Amino acid sequence: MTEGTKTPRFKLGDHVRKTKGSEWEGRVVGTYSTTLTPEGYAVESDAHSGSVQIYPASALEPATPTVDAAFAVLAKGRCPKCGGIMLPGVALESTLVAGDKDLGGDGITVSPGGPGKLIPCIKCSSCGWSVTG
Ligand SMILES: [Zn+2]
Repeated sequence: MTEGTKTPRFKLGDHVRKTKGSEWEGRVVGTYSTTLTPEGYAVESDAHSGSVQIYPASALEPATPTVDAAFAVLAKGRCPKCGGIMLPGVALESTLVAGDKDLGGDGITVSPGGPGKLIPCIKCSSCGWSVTG
């Protein structure tokens, strides 16, 4: 490993997680530099909004935001519409199928059809407003 590389490993807003040990995954919200840790990052947890922990760059790796993590945030939150409790669930999303070009060549008819697929969602228990991953 080359020391003295000046390119920061991560930038603000990057999604990172700890490489080992306790689970911590979230967004880079700040940087720090100390004698022992020339390059360190403050990471706000996805699952615990507002909770920040700091780690040296070497303890972090890039992470892709997972649906689970997004859901963890939402599941703890309230409906943005009515303040009701959000509950995880599953929605059936019908697959759009392109039909024959039968409208004089103006375009392609797209209609609900196909097998459909189950997608995870979170739904307000009060007003029914839902989000899907
Ligand atoms: Zn609601």
